[in-house]
Amino acid sequence: MKYISTRGEAPSLSFEDVVLTGLASDGGLYVPESLPKFSQEEIASWAGLSYQELAFKIIAPFVAGEVPDADLKKIIDDSYATFRHDAIAPLVQTGHNEWILELFQGPTLAFKDFALQFLGNLLDYILKKRDQKVVVMGATSGDTGSAAIEGCRHCDNIDIFILHPHNRVSNVQRKQMTSVLEDNVHNIALEGNFDDCQNMVKASFGDQSFLPEGRQLVAVNSINWARIMAQIVYYFYAGLALGAPSRPVSFSVPTGNFGDIFAGYLAKQMGLPIDQLVIATNANDILHRCISDNDHSKKELIHSLAPSMDIMVSSNFERLLFDLYGRDGSKIKGLMEDFKSGPMVLKEEALSTARELFSSYRLDDDAMIKVIEDVYESTEYLLDPHTAIGVEAARKTRRRTDIPMICLSTAHPAKFPEAVRKAGQSEDPALPHHMADLFDREERFSVLEKDLPKVQSFIADNIRA
Ligand SMILES: *Cc1c(COP(=O)(O)O)cnc(C)c1O
Repeated sequence: MKYISTRGEAPSLSFEDVVLTGLASDGGLYVPESLPKFSQEEIASWAGLSYQELAFKIIAPFVAGEVPDADLKKIIDDSYATFRHDAIAPLVQTGHNEWILELFQGPTLAFKDFALQFLGNLLDYILKKRDQKVVVMGATSGDTGSAAIEGCRHCDNIDIFILHPHNRVSNVQRKQMTSVLEDNVHNIALEGNFDDCQNMVKASFGDQSFLPEGRQLVAVNSINWARIMAQIVYYFYAGLALGAPSRPVSFSVPTGNFGDIFAGYLAKQMGLPIDQLVIATNANDILHRCISDNDHSKKELIHSLAPSMDIMVSSNFERLLFDLYGRDGSKIKGLMEDFKSGPMVLKEEALSTARELFSSYRLDDDAMIKVIEDVYESTEYLLDPHTAIGVEAARKTRRRTDIPMICLSTAHPAKFPEAVRKAGQSEDPALPHHMADLFDREERFSVLEKDLPKVQSFIADNIRA
């Protein structure tokens, strides 16, 4: 399988190279040249497979010829062995034909573990085979950092450096990152905000001369194709559990960078009968505005109680645009160039296809809090703030109640005690047992000034030989 850039100019890459490459050299994102398609009979024959067995069926065509089957199976098994629930992605019912898909059973209690446990093991495998060592560098405002650290902590050939804004991430999120004490894991608490962290990372990717000879940076944010790919699996898994492919299913997805729901769109293109795909946003609603009013314009960032969806622009949307514009890279290049200086206006045909594919809805903090309250009152099930946005978006946009509506639960409520308290809970939600001692664990992190050369020399000094 070959991978091509959404902007049409960068060279096409093999699967393994695409995993080690972040942005394409033309500024685009990599996508597969063509998608595997599964027949209804084939999908039906997967009913009852374990999560790991199903993951193999879905991922294998994407890596065809590069990772032998037995190796891929081991990577998948290792990746999901760290999940606490045997079902890996269990379903819980919260209403008539309304289901919560719990994607928070992994080591950091957020859905990002699905992609990053897999990516860590995959990178380790590729690097060992090539006898190569790399440096993972990333910025985080919360969930991505801890999931990336958990994914890479056991990787011999990776040194990982994660920057977070000092004193500006939640206690749970900081502890999850900084209590990982392996000597290839480095947390940098930057004296600045999240944008400062991101700018340091961008500048470092742009000029990697500060690294020792032979090392390169690898991106583990959601522009990495392997992350999207791993997320396709749970759409099939939940669909099969609720009667697909003999009946359709719908999904509602709390959306930030558009990585998660883009995986749902791919599942549909690959043959899963999906009726509705609901884009659920918080007050940072660029995607909702785009679908409903053709208004894809930047607005100032709002800090919400569902912070993992606080984005100004959704980077993975470009992957959808590529399809909406007939996979013509030159058109996407033009669109993205224009978007630097003003709003992006979709052409009529692209907009109407997007509207056929996606419903959308936006909730601000107050509305979200009310949903946590209401759902708790009617079911005693406690939603995290991101999931609550997805549940309400599903209820507001749902067309058919005879089709199962599956709401992706992207985080455990214990990660976001502030929102849960505001929704009337008298105590912070309890962490799962295996994390009950989180606040007693030893922490290690380095506070650094907002100074690029200092950050880069810290990295260079701490890379293992
Ligand atoms: C990252 C994240 C999201 C948004 O997912 P995208 O793939 O960026 O759209 C939603 N909820 C939680 C809890 C997250 O960590």
